[in-house]
Amino acid sequence: MVARPTRLAPPVECVRLHDPESGLDGVIAIHSTTLGPGAGGCRFWAYPGIDEALADALRLAEGMSYKNALAGLPLGGAKAVLRKPEGAFDRAKLFRAFGRAVEQLGGAYVTAEDVGTSVADMQEVARTTRHVAGLPPAAGRAGGDPSPWTARGVFESMRAAARFALDTDLAGLTVAVQGTGNVGADLCRHLADAGARLVIADPNPARRDRLRAILGAEVVDVGEIASARAEIFAPCALGGALNRDSVRAMKAKLVCGAANNQLASPEVADMLRDRGIAYAPDYVVNAGGIISVSAEYLGENESDVEARVAQIAPRVTALLDRAAREGRSPALVADDMAEAVIAGGERVAA
Ligand code: NAD
Repeated sequence: MVARPTRLAPPVECVRLHDPESGLDGVIAIHSTTLGPGAGGCRFWAYPGIDEALADALRLAEGMSYKNALAGLPLGGAKAVLRKPEGAFDRAKLFRAFGRAVEQLGGAYVTAEDVGTSVADMQEVARTTRHVAGLPPAAGRAGGDPSPWTARGVFESMRAAARFALDTDLAGLTVAVQGTGNVGADLCRHLADAGARLVIADPNPARRDRLRAILGAEVVDVGEIASARAEIFAPCALGGALNRDSVRAMKAKLVCGAANNQLASPEVADMLRDRGIAYAPDYVVNAGGIISVSAEYLGENESDVEARVAQIAPRVTALLDRAAREGRSPALVADDMAEAVIAGGERVAA
């Protein structure tokens, strides 16, 4: 179980979704609507029970509040977590039922892709609600799969963090990438273009073997990636990659990756600092996707997304700098900054 310190008010709304006819089973958690509608993707995963799905939705929704606030977006934080049915099911029907539930919230929640969901799923959702993004865009307009924007933001953040913390560019460094799905694979392509060496792990053979063939990445077992011989560790799978054991065994000197909720518990942030491992906070570096989602929902252009994603890396440098000056973990500094934005009810400049 992954824990975040809860310092803001608890969720303003939590909706149970249960529709046996379509197989829809899950929860929508809306954590904060101070800055705008609660926005966050829809996760579709084989949770053993509703309690596990609820726990994940609550912490993910809270994370979205922090992420959206620090990214300067006019959005609160929310998340949908759906349990993948065990047997056969009609995927299109399930996502249309989910869309109806989103529509009933009247715009308090805006959904999009997350782990386990695709553009095609969001197209089904869009048949029953307006409050969805991540749809195929019109030319020049924002929209579509947010993953490439997430990968771009993570890559630029990693480059900035490497300059700040390791005093070097990425060329010639080795990056250990945990999870080569939508974001992880794209990140690997950026890194290969920048001259970095890659070590990767993914339980899905098709995903990792493709990158080994195309980019010459070294493949290691899933259990070995966090302690791989590399200067940088990039968690791009599920949450909780940074725990006492993985941090103790880590050889990397910088952590920067796309996964949400990387810290398995709050004290791991201090452990990283004490071991001299720089940490680029997850929700700061992975904001590219929600920036794209936000622009699409608000009817903005791709150039607006580009401009906002370009702000992520300088923000990361400023955060690392402030954390170093204050002798604190960058994770705590980011939380303080996000809470100040939400408490003040005013957006940061984006
Ligand atoms: P994805 O489902 O496409 O990819 C996740 C990959 O991780 C899969 O290939 C899976 O096989 C692999 N994986 C699972 N367990 C693993 C393990 N123990 N070790 C190594 N690999 C493992 O998801 P994604 O869209 O690429 O998202 C990756 C992470 O980034 C998630 O935590 C997600 O919440 C976060 N994120 C994604 C976006 C986005 O735009 N897609 C935005 C912000 C944050």
